Amino acid sequence: VPSHRIRNFSIIAHVDHGKSTLADRFLEMTRAIPAGGRKQYLDRLPVERARGITVKAQGVSLLHRDEREESESFGQTFLLNLVDTPGHADFSFEVSRSLAACDGALLLVDATQGVQAQTIATFYLALEAGLEIVPAANKARRVDMDNADVDGVKEQMLSAFGIDPDDVLPISAKTGMGCADVLSAVVDAVPPPRGGAGLAERNDDASRLADADADRSDAPLRALLLDCHYDPYRGAVSVVQIEDGTIRMGDSVAGMAQGGRGSEVLELGMMTPEPLKMPELRAGHVGYVITGSRDVKSAIVGDTLYKPSDESPAKGGGGLGKKIAPLPGFRAAKPTVFQGLFPQSGDEFEALRAAVERLVLNDASVSVSNETSVALGPGFRCGFLGLLHADVFHQRLREEFDADVVATAPTVSYRVRYPDTPETSFEDVASPAALDEKRLHQSGGRGGAKGVIEEPMVDATIICPADAVGKVVELCVDRRGSQLEHAQLGVDRVMLRYRLPSAEIAVDFSDELKSRTSGYATFDYDDAGYEPSDIVRLDILVNGEAVDALSSLTHRDKAARRGRDMCARLKEALPRQLFEVAVQAAVSGKVVARETVSAMRKNVTAKCYGGDISRKKKLLSRQKEGKKRMKRIGNVDIPNEAFAGLLSTQ
Ligand code: GDP
Ligand code: MG
Repeated sequence: VPSHRIRNFSIIAHVDHGKSTLADRFLEMTRAIPAGGRKQYLDRLPVERARGITVKAQGVSLLHRDEREESESFGQTFLLNLVDTPGHADFSFEVSRSLAACDGALLLVDATQGVQAQTIATFYLALEAGLEIVPAANKARRVDMDNADVDGVKEQMLSAFGIDPDDVLPISAKTGMGCADVLSAVVDAVPPPRGGAGLAERNDDASRLADADADRSDAPLRALLLDCHYDPYRGAVSVVQIEDGTIRMGDSVAGMAQGGRGSEVLELGMMTPEPLKMPELRAGHVGYVITGSRDVKSAIVGDTLYKPSDESPAKGGGGLGKKIAPLPGFRAAKPTVFQGLFPQSGDEFEALRAAVERLVLNDASVSVSNETSVALGPGFRCGFLGLLHADVFHQRLREEFDADVVATAPTVSYRVRYPDTPETSFEDVASPAALDEKRLHQSGGRGGAKGVIEEPMVDATIICPADAVGKVVELCVDRRGSQLEHAQLGVDRVMLRYRLPSAEIAVDFSDELKSRTSGYATFDYDDAGYEPSDIVRLDILVNGEAVDALSSLTHRDKAARRGRDMCARLKEALPRQLFEVAVQAAVSGKVVARETVSAMRKNVTAKCYGGDISRKKKLLSRQKEGKKRMKRIGNVDIPNEAFAGLLSTQ
């Protein structure tokens, strides 16, 4: 297929509006998979199937024949590269990554739900990326529930995006109704790939087009690295989009950002959606490449792949060597939620390290550094795009690598300027241990300068039914938010925009919003820089000793309440010991809460379990097993589950 008959497009929508289902229909219609086969074919990670969400964008190539007799391109075959994108706000990085490889976006809105927060967010990402938009209203003819409101969706798309109601295609991804029109609209409206050479204009002068294609495919190779995952049998598998040039078996390729020597291409092909081996990939193609590289950490998503042999070094000091320019990369992934991850027991550290390394190759948006805790031993500090992202990471560690972790309280990354440093020098603080409160509050730094701590903020967009506005506003105020905008969207919907501390939305904001609005509100957010804030460290002490893994950073106004809460929960989680145990919470070193776990008395145990031998034996063996899953703080044993229980839902 010549490049003017290639279409690279993506489906964008709010979560559950039907992207994966529509992708399945496309696969079926182009006969890539049999009808009625496995559902949500592109969601291939086990965690995605379990949660029904799409986490990694997947590329798939389809051959589509234009069957419209009235069409100019009747009878011609098009190569459609479809990138399925995730819909959750945590993964907007993945969305912008997949959009970088596209020229068009199919904007899908569930006609029973209407325009939602992520519809708006992804629309703007697509607009920013300069994509042609093809709008469609899904679930338009729901037979099961008759509440589809296609006209309402058209009106909302007009008022939110200025989309002409006549352009909105009513479809059903479930039954396939109207889906053929969508593919036709993609063929007509989405331009062919813009190559670096910029020659592939749409034009019916066939020979000129063929020449243009040949030129682009003969140019030095430049391919965008869209994704890289680890396959236990084949090693690192890269998904690439070829912008210029051709990549063939046996070529030696390298990533520009990582430098170094090239490695040999052992296999390449397209995902259809199963991998289909091909002898070469040409300009405009999206496909996979397997090289002999053993070094799984070297692939950087967003990097440009090239052939080092295409570059010629400058000769004899004079003259210019030929250098290949990198392609513009993606918006870099910025972790927003940080957590310490530790093995359940110390001897599992090496296994955890190997698992984390592999997973990070698959998900370049996770940041990792080493961290050692007094309570939990050696582990890692990881940065995630959000809590759901962190959860998915834990689950994948467990399911794909059989590695269970103890995770510490999630925290955002604060910025601190100590009074003894120049006014412009801020330090990132993404763990409680990294904050030096004494130094921050010491007086009389340079010229009497005061220390400053700032917290990251987001601008949130919330869409909710008009009658739920009161409850949503109340929640935003409780989360220290300030209102930016309050606008009507269509007849019975409201769009609210709030500036909120990132820490306040990171944990349970979304759940809380859903429960206050019976699930009708949706929200999305974007970075809004930093603002000064009164952040303090909250420590938890067991018999006077601070448990570093239980420390957290929080706003002063919320510290005492949270401290009391944690003490109460730790008291519940601690097994009784032979002596009394004091559990305390301290804010900036000052105790604000205390609970006491009274000592266990031997005769009490005897009474409880007396007589029943088998039960006693079971208890003993459970205790032995349990010892491995305990951490000793001073003279107190704390079970791992206690950490997990305390830290998961704060
Ligand atoms: P995604 O999150 O956008 O990928 O959405 P999915 O494709 O996973 O679909 C979410 C839910 O909506 C699934 O239960 C689908 O079966 C259902 N669904 C998708 N399209 C249609 C449709 O056209 N009609 C009906 N009735 N249900 C649909
Ligand atoms: Mg999906």
